[in-house]
Amino acid sequence: TKLKVGLLFGGRSGEHEVSIASARSIAQALSDPANVEKYDLMPFYIQKDGQWRSPDIARSVLESGALECDDQATNLWKFPIEAEQVDVWFPILHGPNGEDGTIQGLLTLMQKPFVGSGVMGSAVGMDKIAMKMAFAEVGLPQVKYLAVSRAEVYSNPCVFPKLCDRIESELGYPCFVKPANLGSSVGISKVRTRAELEAALDSAASYDRRIIVEAGVVAREVEVAVLGNDQAKASVVGEITFDSDFYDYETKYTAGKSSHTIPANLPDEVVSLIQERALQAFHAIDCAGLSRVDFFYVESTGEVLINEINTLPGFTATSMYPMMWAASGIPYPELVDRLIQLALEQ
Ligand code: ATP
Ligand code: MG
Ligand code: MG
Ligand code: MG
Repeated sequence: TKLKVGLLFGGRSGEHEVSIASARSIAQALSDPANVEKYDLMPFYIQKDGQWRSPDIARSVLESGALECDDQATNLWKFPIEAEQVDVWFPILHGPNGEDGTIQGLLTLMQKPFVGSGVMGSAVGMDKIAMKMAFAEVGLPQVKYLAVSRAEVYSNPCVFPKLCDRIESELGYPCFVKPANLGSSVGISKVRTRAELEAALDSAASYDRRIIVEAGVVAREVEVAVLGNDQAKASVVGEITFDSDFYDYETKYTAGKSSHTIPANLPDEVVSLIQERALQAFHAIDCAGLSRVDFFYVESTGEVLINEINTLPGFTATSMYPMMWAASGIPYPELVDRLIQLALEQ
């Protein structure tokens, strides 16, 4: 008998539309002949207000895009009845309320296997401060950073300047100000002056209670895909290039604003180092199934600095994660199959 795959997408995050695009590609891969024999697709859509919708509605969203909703969810604890039939969940939610351990907690309580990392790997991977602390603990080189709280940013006019002084003296300019728990570069600013720093802290504080400020580095941006559980493997390395100031939201999602090279043109020993560190990072926070690990490669010094891990990376047919596996010998439909099998193995 076929396994019913609960494809869970949409979600209460700024990456809602990206999630729909990822889910559309996965749904298509499940209709590939080899997968059709093993799996039945059962899609579930989470509206922007958090409400879950049935497979019927989810299918129409996959075809024609996000549903409008009034942001007044009243049925948060009513799941579509079909959810009871799901054998294995495939959450493909990016960002807060999906990639961060919240959905993983719910699925754990449902006592059904699911694709990807559990509560801890997801939560630690999403929070850039916790993530960097975990990476430091296993000795992974990374940029210098300071953790800042919203309370410090909104503090009285005597404390705030001291915070900015400290950032200037410890990190200098340019530096990057980021909400700790987000993705797709939402809320991130690159700052070069005191005035920009103050504005960036204020902006980041509007997204998250937790903020991270990082020393800016001039480097090539390289990524690697990890697949597996305890015996996880790393893919070939890919490189992202663009003309904009940094890899911001617009650059990420506007066609033609960025390009990729897979495999990246790098010395063999740098590739091995990146792959090794990606696996170290994956295990450091107890990931499972998949992750995309992003690095800065400082060509002048040969340094490989880990930037971050994404436990549910973009998963469209033209997203980096599946493309890096395709270039490593695992085509998209097989990748989807392997991820489901890895979920069942857990
Ligand atoms: P994703 O969409 O991959 O989840 P994100 O929102 O988690 O991204 P980051 O990867 O932390 O954000 O940063 C986004 C981009 O900002 C990077 O790809 C890079 O271009 C730039 N950037 C971030 N931090 C630094 C840094 N310390 N030095 C130089 N550039 C940086
Ligand atoms: Mg990220
Ligand atoms: Mg992300
Ligand atoms: Mg990133």
